[in-house]
Formats: sequence, structure tokens, C-alpha cells
Amino acid sequence: MMEIDKSTLGTLEDQMFYRRIALKELTGIRHDNPTDEDFMFTTIATINRLQENIQWWYMSCDVCNKIATKESHNYYCKNCDTYPEGLTPRYRIQLQISDRTATTSCTLFDEEDERMLNTSVSFLLDSLDGKFEELPKIIQELCGQRLIFRFKLNNKNLTLGMQNYAVKKIFAPDEKLEKQYLEDKAEEDLMDDEVDNMLKRETKKPNEPVKKVQISKCELSKNICELVPVKEEPKDKRNGSTVHEKE
Ligand SMILES: [Zn+2]
Repeated sequence: MMEIDKSTLGTLEDQMFYRRIALKELTGIRHDNPTDEDFMFTTIATINRLQENIQWWYMSCDVCNKIATKESHNYYCKNCDTYPEGLTPRYRIQLQISDRTATTSCTLFDEEDERMLNTSVSFLLDSLDGKFEELPKIIQELCGQRLIFRFKLNNKNLTLGMQNYAVKKIFAPDEKLEKQYLEDKAEEDLMDDEVDNMLKRETKKPNEPVKKVQISKCELSKNICELVPVKEEPKDKRNGSTVHEKE
């Protein structure tokens, strides 16, 4: 029953950088048997927009917490096969996010939305004054925000490559720590590049002198061909003319 979630261990900083990857890497992860591994990652990305035509909230059945759909005047829970008496509106915000490497979509569920927006769905719905199709300003203002997302990849993400990732937690980035992270990463990449270059140099060594000689020969012969006639002609003329004058 008690499953240890490693992504929630450690300091806030540890959590914010837990298996940090870029979106391109995240969206490329595939696995046939995802049950035996923890597919939890963090990434930093900017919210481009809310996914169109997807409501930012839904009505849930108080018995099972699953979605209840509106049927004329009542809400019906397919899971319980009843018209539940107790209903609670919950957040389900689907976002399009991007970083420098890729664009994808993700969904934030109730608890995390409430924590991020610092307000309840009921409060926001009341503020809309019956115009439930409208998007509250506080949700519109999510666009353009750069946040750290902790994702847990599910079977559909992993086996079918379906996008739309479930967000488990959101953090406001600490720009100092992000800068430090990038610097450390750049240093690591540089070290990797250095190793790569050394390996390349070693493997290319025997070919290099041959190539250089070939190139320099070509260049030399070109130079000779171009220079010789140009230089010789005026010399001849000058010589010829001086000879003529003297004669
Ligand atoms: Zn139900």
C-alpha cells in the first residue's frame, strides 16, 4: 500500500530538479512494461495557452470522485450508474506548454490547480455569475508563465507515445538555482564534448596529413596557373616595348 515516491523526497531544491529533462526527451520516452519503473520527471516549460475546447473544470461524483456528466437538469455518474446527490466541481486544466526543444500538452488536476491558483473552483464559478463558458481571468493569466512541472508518465504516454502528461506538482522556479543548474549542465556538456573531440582527434589522426597534402597541392597548382600568365604578359609587353624604344 505504502509506495515510496522518490520524487517527493529531499529538499525543495532536490524535488525541483528531480530527473530534470527537456520536453523533447520527455516526449520521446517509450517503455513496454512501465510497471516496474518510476517514470517521474521534472521539466521547466512555459505555458503557451489553454487547450481549446476543453473545459477547465468538471463536476465530480462525491461517492467515487469520477466525472459526472450533465443530463438536462441532473448530473449522471456513469461509474456509480446513479444521479448522485453530492457533487463537487473540480479543476482539470489542460495546457499547451513548450521549452526550447519541444511543445506538448499536459493536464493539471484539482489539488495542484487549487494550490497554484490559490482559489477554489466553486469560488471561480461563483465569480463567473452563471457564464460558465467563460474563462476566469486568473486562469487566462497562466499563459506566458514559466514553471517547473513534475510529470508522471502513464501507460499511454509510454507505450503509445500519446502526449498529454499528468502534472503531479508545480513549482515556481528559483532563477538563481536554474542559472546554476544550466551552468553546471553546460560544464558537463563541455566535458563530454572535450572527450568526444579527443576521441575524434585520435581516430582522425592517420587521415589528416594525407588530406592536407592533397588540399595544398590543389591550391598551389591553382595559384600557379592563375598567377603565371598574368604576371608574364605584362613583363613581355614591357620588355617588348623597351626593346622597341631602344631599337
Ligand atoms: Zn460516482
